[in-house]
Amino acid sequence: MNLVSHEAWLRFAIFAGALLAVGLWETLAPLRKPTVPRSVRWFSNLALAAIDTGIVRLLIPLGVVGAALFAEERGWGLFRQVDWPAWLVIVLAVVALDFVIWLQHVIFHAVPLLWRLHQVHHADLDFDASTGVRFHPLEMLISLGVKVVAVSALGVPAVAVVIFEILLSTTAMFNHANVRLPGWLDALLRLLVVTPDMHRVHHSVETRETNSNFGFNLPWWDFLFGTYRAQPDAGHEAMTIGLTAFRDPRVCWLHWMLLLPLWRRLGVQAEMAGGDPRLEPAASDASEKRCVLDASSKRR
Ligand SMILES: [Zn+2]
Ligand SMILES: [Zn+2]
Repeated sequence: MNLVSHEAWLRFAIFAGALLAVGLWETLAPLRKPTVPRSVRWFSNLALAAIDTGIVRLLIPLGVVGAALFAEERGWGLFRQVDWPAWLVIVLAVVALDFVIWLQHVIFHAVPLLWRLHQVHHADLDFDASTGVRFHPLEMLISLGVKVVAVSALGVPAVAVVIFEILLSTTAMFNHANVRLPGWLDALLRLLVVTPDMHRVHHSVETRETNSNFGFNLPWWDFLFGTYRAQPDAGHEAMTIGLTAFRDPRVCWLHWMLLLPLWRRLGVQAEMAGGDPRLEPAASDASEKRCVLDASSKRR
């Protein structure tokens, strides 16, 4: 199989199937009532995903798979220095890429400028499958760059890249689902994969909860590095989803999502909740607080 020419269609077909299946599941058995009409959010979130895909394909047509093949031709990367069975290299490469993406997610929360971009994902006022594709194009491009570097340095085989990308987009649909699994099943599954209840904690307005459960795919990194939080304090149905700074329903409109990293300059009043400063996006937080001061001084 020509991996590069089939990869995009294979990924799209599996993504569309997962989105349809989870969307149907949420429609039949939703956990939480929507705060914003579902049609508005789904249109905006999916349109943002289409823009992301268009930009990425335009700038790097062959994507991360292309980078993997390029590195393979030149014999680059750690995994090419060892003589391990192909299946073992594929498994280890997928796990290693998952760790890279986990670490990238932690950094996006910790570095104020990156947090501004990642806020677009967190500002969604509801949590469902469409939230799983809600990322600012600049965050997608930075993530692409990180993956290209990681794949080249590690010498990840192209087939492992395809497996990882498919896993990542499918689990993103699953772990953002507005559904609840039976307690025993959730407890069992979250030993292996991030469940909707586990990732919902990460979308809480409470800063200490936002700065936990960074995993998208494997839950192990949060267990290992002490960033795991089992449940939200307020419970899954009563907890508030989103960011304290952005409660205006406009955060669910496409053009506002694209402009959201610049909202301070647009003079939108914002407040941030206090919380655990360990991973708190300090400068962004401070800038939002400055915005409140600006707004109140104008009133005086
Ligand atoms: Zn996050
Ligand atoms: Zn998320």
